[in-house]
Amino acid sequence: MIEYKNISLTYPNGFKALKNINLKFNPGEFIVIVGLSGAGKSTLIRSLNLMVRPNEGELLVDGENILNYKEKQLRKLRTEIGMIFQQHNLVKRSSVLKNVLSGRLGYTGTVKSILNLFSKEDIALAMNSLDRVDIAEKAYQRADQLSGGQQQRVSIARALTQKPKIILADEPVSSLDPPTANQVMKDLQRINKEDGITTIVNLHAIDLAMEYGQRIIGLRGGELVFDGPASSVTEKTFEEIYGRPIKEEDMVGGVEEAL
Ligand code: ADP
Repeated sequence: MIEYKNISLTYPNGFKALKNINLKFNPGEFIVIVGLSGAGKSTLIRSLNLMVRPNEGELLVDGENILNYKEKQLRKLRTEIGMIFQQHNLVKRSSVLKNVLSGRLGYTGTVKSILNLFSKEDIALAMNSLDRVDIAEKAYQRADQLSGGQQQRVSIARALTQKPKIILADEPVSSLDPPTANQVMKDLQRINKEDGITTIVNLHAIDLAMEYGQRIIGLRGGELVFDGPASSVTEKTFEEIYGRPIKEEDMVGGVEEAL
């Protein structure tokens, strides 16, 4: 269980990016956060592993306020949270397998990790994770030889190899073409169903949000303006979240193509 209680975040330059957010996420939920660029989506999810730090309120994970965590507790929390970024953040010149194995680093001692000494179990887990996103045959290729969609699947495999309780995906499909974007969203959805990993995804494309979100959270100017099941969302809801009529460019397209 994750709970944001009166969470506000002001950046050092004085900009208030989150304003008194109250939210609860249940274990195993698949949540999509929508809003215009600058609405605070990224800040909201990055708060959860304290890549950015709220200055007010409480942020509870399984009943503990992580804002009080010391270094060691924070390190443990971060091993339990897999991150997926828009730009994959892979080590380009390393093999796919090495990139995925880096998901184990939180569990491996520093010396072992410098020497790349991973156990057989870790390697088997990494290969299994690659297999689950259908890309095991690329294990020994250099990461930068893969297409954008394949690299994003590698980053999902890396997150899976962490054995996380939570996956945070920050605009994971923004730089992908529509069919590939849908495929990556399907991978995230399938893993959420199979493993029950709480999954929180930032998206700005309305059609993807509706297709894949169970629950939609709407942010506008750092405020929570919508929270409800995707089934209750209408075009008007999005107009309220976006503060303007919906345009064609708010859609990625290709939702049916990938079905
Ligand atoms: P989104 O993910 O919805 O595009 P962000 O969470 O990235 O929104 O940003 C929310 C607002 O906070 C934006 O106006 C952005 O310019 C601002 N912001 C983000 N990071 C910083 C920072 N490090 N310092 C100051 N302002 C920031």
